[in-house]
Amino acid sequence: MSVFEHRSFDGHEHLAFCHDKPSGLKAIIAIHNTHLGHALGGCRMFDYRCEDEAINDVLRLSRGMTYKSAAANLPLGGGKSVILGNPRQYKTEELLRAMGRFIDSLGGRYVAAEDSGISEADMRIMGQETSHVAGFSSQPGERGDPSPATAYGVFIGLKAAVEQRYKSSDLKGLRVAVQGVGSVGYRLAEMLAGEGAELWVSDVYAESAEQAAAELGATVVEPDQIFSSPVDVIAPCALGATVDDTVLSQLTAGVIAGSANNQLAYDDLGAALKARDILYAPDYVINSGGIIDVYYQRQGLPYARAHKHITQTVTETLQEIFQRSTSTGEATNVIADQVARRRFEPDTSAIDCVA
Ligand code: NAD
Repeated sequence: MSVFEHRSFDGHEHLAFCHDKPSGLKAIIAIHNTHLGHALGGCRMFDYRCEDEAINDVLRLSRGMTYKSAAANLPLGGGKSVILGNPRQYKTEELLRAMGRFIDSLGGRYVAAEDSGISEADMRIMGQETSHVAGFSSQPGERGDPSPATAYGVFIGLKAAVEQRYKSSDLKGLRVAVQGVGSVGYRLAEMLAGEGAELWVSDVYAESAEQAAAELGATVVEPDQIFSSPVDVIAPCALGATVDDTVLSQLTAGVIAGSANNQLAYDDLGAALKARDILYAPDYVINSGGIIDVYYQRQGLPYARAHKHITQTVTETLQEIFQRSTSTGEATNVIADQVARRRFEPDTSAIDCVA
């Protein structure tokens, strides 16, 4: 298999295949672009069906991080890592420490944070082997997990999208379906319920969905029914590539706004959504709250600074994208890429990064 010819290869700077025999670790670290700064991005552990699926994921996710940091006006590049294997079965301290050593070997070109399948506690274990890890608290009282900041960014981004599409940001009575009520999805559901939205939820772990039903009055639907729920907004907060042709034919919602990375199964779906008058809030813009928070944490700055940055950047960038999409007729995901590229490409990066 050729990586340089891979369908998801996009001029990535660095791809490291990591194997540690004693712990059984198999992982891939991808650094997409470091024009704006060192690469920062999550470390995911997932039971990939095959190696190609993992390579595809890490190539797409690391590229997404370059665009996300640029769109968020952060002086950071894009990277991501994936550990191959079911986290519930194969995650051990030995394996996490081995991953920490591989991250360390890159000398700070890549800084890892938590992602699906990797917890704050896991990051703390990696942190025993390297300082190039972020997004976890090392002492009681310190903030760490970026999920609350991500959820907040998705919440205000969802409101901006609702305002654009339905001409009102009042969530009272708005019907929202949340796919995946994990670290981000559950918090988003709480905020939506707090402003009077009606919720539909699904999760492959039935207990999580049932908790949302019990605590937030959500209607639980089967995972394969969530996109056809009779709602105004869909919030994909599980894994990527969930919006595909089948989903497109089922949708009744006018807005897609959620936290998952790489929500569209392929890029042209953005145009298909626009043709159906479904407003898509580009994933890496709306879910950038977490990376913004992690950036401020590493600078030793308080959450209030991150919160202000999230509030301003997520809302303003989405509004710019929506307006340009309306005026040019181009899909929102295409416009988002243009906005991000304008910020990270070396010759044109006349940008307003935070200092
Ligand atoms: P998580 O693992 O805590 O939650 C994901 C939830 O989705 C889990 O409860 C899981 O059971 C459920 N799920 C998986 N497949 C599903 C399916 N087919 N149908 C319904 N539910 C399903 O992860 P998270 O941290 O909440 O992240 C959610 C998404 O947001 C991921 O795509 C992640 O990459 C992205 N994201 C997270 C952050 C963050 O700060 N945590 C930041 C940016 C992007």
